[in-house]
Amino acid sequence: MRKKIVAGNWKMNKNFSDGLALFSEVINMANDELHNSQQVIVCSPYLHLHSLVQLNKGNTKVALGAQNCHQAEIGAFTGEISADMLASAGVQYVIIGHSERRQYFAESNTLCAAKIDIALKNNLTPIYCIGETLQEREAGTHFDIIKTQLAQATYHLSAQDFVKLVIAYEPVWAIGTGVTASSAQAQEIHAFIRKEIAWQYSAALADEISILYGGSCNPKNAEELFAQADIDGGLIGGASLKSRDFIDIAKAFN
Ligand code: PEP
Repeated sequence: MRKKIVAGNWKMNKNFSDGLALFSEVINMANDELHNSQQVIVCSPYLHLHSLVQLNKGNTKVALGAQNCHQAEIGAFTGEISADMLASAGVQYVIIGHSERRQYFAESNTLCAAKIDIALKNNLTPIYCIGETLQEREAGTHFDIIKTQLAQATYHLSAQDFVKLVIAYEPVWAIGTGVTASSAQAQEIHAFIRKEIAWQYSAALADEISILYGGSCNPKNAEELFAQADIDGGLIGGASLKSRDFIDIAKAFN
């Protein structure tokens, strides 16, 4: 059975005290209202992570994730953070290759491959983001783009390592725009991703991989999206900044 996951990406939002308050609401609501085995993940700014891990002690419904990590183990990389630092602070997940990192920080598939390697080496679960821009979809190249994003960043992995990944399909045109992919559009791509993984590795392995949808997911559209055969949850941006909306999205599995 694939893990059902709702992961929140706070991006560069919430100062320290507001972040602590939001996270406290999330854990209280998750404990009171989530009755299935869905995993809730909060990917906060680095600054908040250690304190959120402490607040979350003993709670398995919610886990912490970072939004990025550096590809090197250690060294002179001013302003960066390592996978080891994250893991040693109790962080379990790390987003790799978010479209904002690709767009504003020129992150390539090859760089993502190195980040995935260092994350796995440090026992962090990478949430690897892929997805096409509007131009790419309009040009009809979206399947090729997704295939390449998968191949260049992950196909060097052994099956044993690949199975540890979470994949997030996030059409760039749907991120923060209020435009959601229709459930049929999302399912089509999720099924394609799973088929590609099955072809590269095996059908059994592909069947174990959680593939999340991201892009203007909200409490109104989550149920229909999560009901699709190959959609195993969501990576949530804007709506993860409101505890009520975020938990209502996680409840879409109930
Ligand atoms: C995201 O940034 O990963 C995302 C899905 O954002 P939003 O939900 O705001 O579209």
